[in-house]
Amino acid sequence: MKVKHLQLFFYIILVTHFFNMGLSKPLSAEAGHLNAPVHNISMEFNLQSNSLRANSRIELPAGINLHLNVSNLNVIQTTLNGQPLELPEGNTFIEIPSSPNEQEILLSYDKEIPPGSSPANMISEAGITLIDSWYPLADHEMFFKLTAQIPAAFAAISEADETIVFQINDSKQVTFLFPHPLFSINFIAGPYLVVQESFGEDKTLAAYFFPEDKELAVGYLAKAKKYLERYEEMLGPYPYTRFSIVENRLPTGFAMPTFTLLGQSVVRLPFIVDTSLGHEVLHAWFGNGVRMSPQEGNWVEGLTTYLADQSFAADEGRDTAYRKEQLVKYQSFVRPDMNLVLRDFSNVGHGDIKGEPVRAVGYNKSSMFFHMLRNKVGQDMFTASLQDFFKRLKFKTAGWSDLQTSFESISGMDLDDFFAQWLDRNDIPVLVVQESEIMNRDGFPVVHFSIVQENEIPYVLEVPVVVKTTAEEIHKKLSLSEKRTVVDIPLASVPQTLVIDPEYDLMRELSPSEVPPTWSQFLGAANKIAVLPEEKYRDLYKSLLEQLEESEVRVLLQDEITDKDLAENSLLFLGIEGSLSRSLFARPDHPEDSFTLDARPNPLNPSQVAVLVSAANPEQVKMAAGKLRHYGKYSYLSFQNGRNQVKKITETDFGLTVDLVRLPVGIETSKSRTFDDIIANLLDHKVIYIGESHTNYEDHLLQLEIIRALYEHDPRLAIGMEMFTRPSQAVLDRYLAGELDEKSFLKESQYFKTWRFDYRLYRDIINFAKHNHLPIIALNLEKDLVNKVFKAGGPNSLDGGEASLFPTDRKLDEPGYRERIATAYMMHAGQGQNGDFSGFLQAQALWDETMAETIVEYLKTHPDERMVVIAGRGHVDRINAIPPRVNRRLPVSQVVVVNSSGSPSESETADFIFLSPPASLSPFPLLGVMLEDTENEEGVLVTALNPQGRALEAGIKEKDIIMAIDSQPVNDVEDVKIEMLYKEDSASVLARIKRRAFLFGDKELDIEVPLKNTEKTQRM
Ligand SMILES: [Zn+2]
Repeated sequence: MKVKHLQLFFYIILVTHFFNMGLSKPLSAEAGHLNAPVHNISMEFNLQSNSLRANSRIELPAGINLHLNVSNLNVIQTTLNGQPLELPEGNTFIEIPSSPNEQEILLSYDKEIPPGSSPANMISEAGITLIDSWYPLADHEMFFKLTAQIPAAFAAISEADETIVFQINDSKQVTFLFPHPLFSINFIAGPYLVVQESFGEDKTLAAYFFPEDKELAVGYLAKAKKYLERYEEMLGPYPYTRFSIVENRLPTGFAMPTFTLLGQSVVRLPFIVDTSLGHEVLHAWFGNGVRMSPQEGNWVEGLTTYLADQSFAADEGRDTAYRKEQLVKYQSFVRPDMNLVLRDFSNVGHGDIKGEPVRAVGYNKSSMFFHMLRNKVGQDMFTASLQDFFKRLKFKTAGWSDLQTSFESISGMDLDDFFAQWLDRNDIPVLVVQESEIMNRDGFPVVHFSIVQENEIPYVLEVPVVVKTTAEEIHKKLSLSEKRTVVDIPLASVPQTLVIDPEYDLMRELSPSEVPPTWSQFLGAANKIAVLPEEKYRDLYKSLLEQLEESEVRVLLQDEITDKDLAENSLLFLGIEGSLSRSLFARPDHPEDSFTLDARPNPLNPSQVAVLVSAANPEQVKMAAGKLRHYGKYSYLSFQNGRNQVKKITETDFGLTVDLVRLPVGIETSKSRTFDDIIANLLDHKVIYIGESHTNYEDHLLQLEIIRALYEHDPRLAIGMEMFTRPSQAVLDRYLAGELDEKSFLKESQYFKTWRFDYRLYRDIINFAKHNHLPIIALNLEKDLVNKVFKAGGPNSLDGGEASLFPTDRKLDEPGYRERIATAYMMHAGQGQNGDFSGFLQAQALWDETMAETIVEYLKTHPDERMVVIAGRGHVDRINAIPPRVNRRLPVSQVVVVNSSGSPSESETADFIFLSPPASLSPFPLLGVMLEDTENEEGVLVTALNPQGRALEAGIKEKDIIMAIDSQPVNDVEDVKIEMLYKEDSASVLARIKRRAFLFGDKELDIEVPLKNTEKTQRM
């Protein structure tokens, strides 16, 4: 039996053991070794004609039938018990019925292997490799005795404990003897330099390397010896007398009994000695020493991966990261609808992308199974059980049930349910933490939470939990067997975070905050689109598109993609110049003259990934494309001329993490700064953001005070305002220039339509600017465009004219942006807003990007000026709102100022926090009516009245139409608001009303409405 190498950087599709399985299930010689047939092969080669000629003599014991596959051979002659056996024309199988006596089958055959015709076989002057169907394959394990004539300059290797070599003139005769039955054997020969040494008790370690690689042999031998010693100590003596490392002209990675066969290109990779070599050595115990039973599935690769690859990572202290990578890979490729269960895994599957899900089960889930088994029985029992398993089943086949027997007999535990839930289920545990809170009991905190298994049938699990407190880490193990488990953990100090399974000891689904965006995630995504900015990019990325053919990617031009597509798929942007990728990620900073692959969460749907690819030219793409499959676990990759320059995995949470208590931050009063001190600091910056809660008057007073102070120090100052949209700039300019009165300015700028808030909040700031001739810049995008984007779920359905008003570069994945906007969306969600989250996010980003773009345009044309930006608190967040978007466009120094609202995040999102006393305006003079614009008619319609309002008291009725206020005609709601703005000090207003009277036509009447008796702020 031959065991396929754990694939790391190469892969070939070949497991010869399974070639004959397709014909009939191989029969194990387990029942009695002595009863196995004996197969003698003698062969010779013609290297010039790439051919072999061989004779097989098979001794078939009494009572055994035999099925031989000769389909790949040119059979010359066959006899059974001395009688010629006629093969019908085209017959590729020979069936020998059993007989009460021993039988003898003789076959002579030849086989030609034209150069390049097979990935597994070659016969040439450079060397001989025979792996695939090169002799009559049987459905039985057999004892093999192989004799071959080879050139004198060649050395040869096959499965053998003993090799006999005779030199005959210019050729050699080599004979291989192996005392254990095998399903198949392999033969390799070539101009090797052979280096040998001894290990253990009378055992030989050898390296067969080509002359050009001879200096590699020393390193390989030293490492192999270490691995042999490691596993002898762990598992028991190495089961054969020889171990050889054999270099192959063909790109293989195989572990055969007594040797490993590594392709030349593989051997030269510097990390193989630290990774794959150990895995291959271990296959001498598991895979070859104890072989997997074809009836019971493949436990070999999981166990070998765990004891080799995972364990080597542990040697370097990165076993937690290694297990996490295994879970990430599993999650990238395996979906529940694939219905994959571990017990069904039999072989490595196709080497292509379609085999990835199968391998994620057979290697990764299986390795995690052994990790969980080790944790369940403990390290000592685990090792003892494996020793028992190896001792009992050496040179035999074994299945999962044999492993279970060893573990149960050694540990004394009943492992039925454990084996069943991990081997036979197609799902993996999905854990979520709900209802986490801190309660206080006698002054001490108690962490209270529920762990919910979202699986239909709950698993039985031991879940490690850590509570990190201000003073310590408390480790617990929770036993779960129900769908919901309620947990209380009493503590001595204040808890900060709760982490479930911090070291990845469980096979489980990762929470979104644990999963890094990776190239594998794209490859494994069920729904994925590759986006070309234009048709011409198809040529540039041709080699990559060819690689992707088998992974079912839809390839579309950016104009063909809808907002829905963007939100529902994993995306691959081929080129970072296209407007679509720029509308989500702006232009990322990729190195020139390289090939770069940059995976990020899709901001519109973080369960999907978005990959930004850029390349200098088709050659860079071609040189990198073939290698990408081996870099699936990475988030960011850069290749130059096919050589990897940068590889990174985006950092994510380790363990399912829940924040428990965020203690408030504080200010040391002795370090608080005076207003003048802070102003002096603000003067060092080009852009000064002063955030506001729109209705908090103290925020506007702070804005005014800061503007005044800055102006006193340096009059070169502009004020940018969120409250005005860009088309209203001309009206603003005219008002500031004294060309409009305030009423006309409010009307023409549509202040009350777009912004709505009490104008008195901003009046002093605007008038200060007017008196001092300071420009005010309207920063915002038109409201109806933003609404359209929100309602449509994105900007892509808007027509070209409207879309041209948007900034081309928008970045939706600023750190923490999506999360912050999602919180705001949840608050809006209850308010009957129609539009999904991706539309909401797009709209928010359009706002922030437009304001940033407007600020930058102004600063570029007015390089001597400083700008104060007045906007809502959310827009001035220095981490992810306007400030980083300004800096992306223009490197200027910026500072963020807010009045404290008591939110702990202020210490991160702002540079200066003011502690202003509360302040309020006198209440806005209100009539106490709900109004609506009338259609095709003068005046404004009263749709409802406040029951406590003055209008009702004065006699205004529903459906009345207000025509004028204090003789000023009003035609829409905005007019009423503007008129009322000036009634702050009035005792009453006179409303002209048109009232419809049934049958008698309309009548007009004047009603005096007293305004609320309010306490007025004394203003000087
Ligand atoms: Zn393996």
